[in-house]
Amino acid sequence: MSEVSFPDLETYRREVFIQEDPLLKSVMPEAVALGLPPVSVNPDAGMTLHLLARMIGARKILEFGALAGYSAIWLARALPREGRLISLELDPKHARIARANLARARLADRAEVRAGSALQMMAEVSAEAPFDMVFIDADKESYPRYLDFALDHVRLGGLIVADNADGHGHVHENLEPGDGRRGIQTYNRRVASDRRLVSHALPIGGWLAVSVKVEE
Ligand code: SAH
Ligand code: MG
Repeated sequence: MSEVSFPDLETYRREVFIQEDPLLKSVMPEAVALGLPPVSVNPDAGMTLHLLARMIGARKILEFGALAGYSAIWLARALPREGRLISLELDPKHARIARANLARARLADRAEVRAGSALQMMAEVSAEAPFDMVFIDADKESYPRYLDFALDHVRLGGLIVADNADGHGHVHENLEPGDGRRGIQTYNRRVASDRRLVSHALPIGGWLAVSVKVEE
């Protein structure tokens, strides 16, 4: 078999490993054309979320922040047919677009987008616990509260993953009071030191903070 060569090592890594199909490729350009911000995870992080969910045999996943459903598609594709993804999304327009994309990906049977404030929907979502995986990617100031919920509602051996753990490149700096990214600073310190978790920040996309629950 002849091998094609790639312009550089990084292109090789992405092209050989990242299973981003045409549907996934179309989600964010179309969403941006409809006025949504281009703030989904990148393909590298999407592939990683999918891999993590597969590695633990996830059947039930909770997502904070759907946007257009890009990360939700990666996650839901890791689920078995009877699996379930619940994604909480504040903006009704984002929620509509995410639902349409999940339907287009033929995942409507296992993936659901609930519109409203995640903080307000957490109580009802607790009825669906325990989750195998929680992916946190909504408003940054609420990360510590999403973490509290995840710690209480993820099974032993389950994963808590947060996007943008690098605070858009500023997590190591002194941030002004009121800066939402302070929530990420708190989140990182907490997952790194909580005895119930083993955590690391993977420098993929805007960093994925990955935690496995090892104690109740
Ligand atoms: N996970 C998505 C990107 C999410 S962007 C992906 O990678 O494809 C962050 C989303 O969180 C936005 O759509 C925003 O509307 C939503 N959001 C912001 N505050 C929220 C809240 N309090 N509750 C639920 N969703 C919220
Ligand atoms: Mg993000």
